[in-house]
Amino acid sequence: MEILLIQFQTFETIDPRTGEVIARISEGTKEDIDIAVKAARYAFDFGPWPRLPGVERAKLMMKFADLIEQNTEELAALDAIDAGKLYHLCKALDIPSAANTLRYYAGAADKIHGEVLKASRELHAYTLLEPIGVVGHIIPWNFPTAMFFIKVAPSLAAGCTMVLKPAEQTPLSALFYAHLAKLAGIPDGVINVVPGFGPIAGAAVSSHMDIDAVSFTGSTQTGRKIMEAAAKSNLKHVSLELGGKSPLIIFDDADIEKATELALLGILFNKGEVCVASSRVFVQEGIYHEFEKKLVEKAKTWVVGDPFDPNVQQGPQVDKKQFEKILSYIEHGKKEGATLLTGGKTVGNKGYYIQPTIFSNIKDDMLIAQDEIFGPVMALKKFKTVEEAIKSANNTRYGLAAGIVTKNLDIANTMSRSIRAGTIWINCYFAFGDDIPFGGYKMSGFGKDHGLQALQKYLQVKSVVTPIYNSPWL
Ligand code: NAD
Repeated sequence: MEILLIQFQTFETIDPRTGEVIARISEGTKEDIDIAVKAARYAFDFGPWPRLPGVERAKLMMKFADLIEQNTEELAALDAIDAGKLYHLCKALDIPSAANTLRYYAGAADKIHGEVLKASRELHAYTLLEPIGVVGHIIPWNFPTAMFFIKVAPSLAAGCTMVLKPAEQTPLSALFYAHLAKLAGIPDGVINVVPGFGPIAGAAVSSHMDIDAVSFTGSTQTGRKIMEAAAKSNLKHVSLELGGKSPLIIFDDADIEKATELALLGILFNKGEVCVASSRVFVQEGIYHEFEKKLVEKAKTWVVGDPFDPNVQQGPQVDKKQFEKILSYIEHGKKEGATLLTGGKTVGNKGYYIQPTIFSNIKDDMLIAQDEIFGPVMALKKFKTVEEAIKSANNTRYGLAAGIVTKNLDIANTMSRSIRAGTIWINCYFAFGDDIPFGGYKMSGFGKDHGLQALQKYLQVKSVVTPIYNSPWL
């Protein structure tokens, strides 16, 4: 008997706590993406998914959500080991929230409809909302679970089929989700997960002639390439959730204790690997001195270590590349003349741990005030007036989010209308909800995730018009 051995190309996924290999993963090639697109196209053109009544799609999505909850611990462990995320937070937040995202959009699946239009006395017109077709999702590594579901859930509800490429740093939970989707009874070909590298598998998605829309979250630099590829191929619809350099602006009337906690959380949550991290903190001069003192004291007690330890507040950066990038920005900050108030060093002798780092004496045009560092590095600046705060806040090519801390309603209103960003948080930060649309202004991208607005990305409007004779009314 002849045995046929097929050699798959693989890549390593690394445990950022140690730098050691966790597993070898099949590496998706252009040909693999093509096979996945063919499966998704067949499922869209001939399969049941887009033809099921919304309520039937919803039932399977609900089942998928239940299966996620039943596997919470395993999924939390996968994201913790693959991305260095805090295990207890994944268990309490990331995984249950993902199940709820599915449930939120399951609730919308049977409420997708067009409208009847009164075009004229002679014309009857109505619109249909049809699924856009085969969608390509390309996601980053910082929230492997949340990113998977903010893309997959609304597109499932809309009746689309899809190919999803997880980030090469964090493919593990995505593969488990594909398995759970199958167990839930989502038909074959609807969700196709292909791990692989951006310039190969990702580029094959964005340039594919048979993908109707691409929904991307990642860096602005890659977003540009995705748009180019879409423009050069079949002009597929593109939505981009990109980088940020979000300001948190704290006014004199703020509760200093709470404001320091918010500022620290804003930059240190998920080790600063958050697109909306409050990487620029502007504090009004009246409280600046006390704020800075308290902030530094607290940053020094912040616990960095193994993400499986429940007392730890900050795990390792996702990989060596990200670790080195952050350290080089810290060096740059020192050279640029910013004052290093605390941190700046690595922690331990293995893995990719970095101390919470705070720079003061920031000028708006410094590189550490302009570039997205995507790490636990805060740029702190003093300001005098509301006008100055608005000018500094908007002095960025990004526009993802901003936070304002004040009890003064007039200031809060002026600021929230003046800052050019897609989300404004007043007296809070990282306040997300499945029903709150999220997306950027300026070079932070376009198109919304979350909320019913996200459904629109996966639907297209068809107008149907027919003559009408002898209508008694308009
Ligand atoms: P990245 O752009 O390098 O990678 C993101 C994804 O794109 C990965 O899956 C990667 O494989 C893929 N990719 C890379 N090159 C590609 C190419 N040429 N063609 C197609 N796909 C390609 O970003 P990253 O470093 O993984 O993630 C960090 C960035 O993501 C940060 O800039 C951050 O702000 C951003 N981000 C934004 C949001 C948001 O909602 N706006 C959320 C999370 C992360």
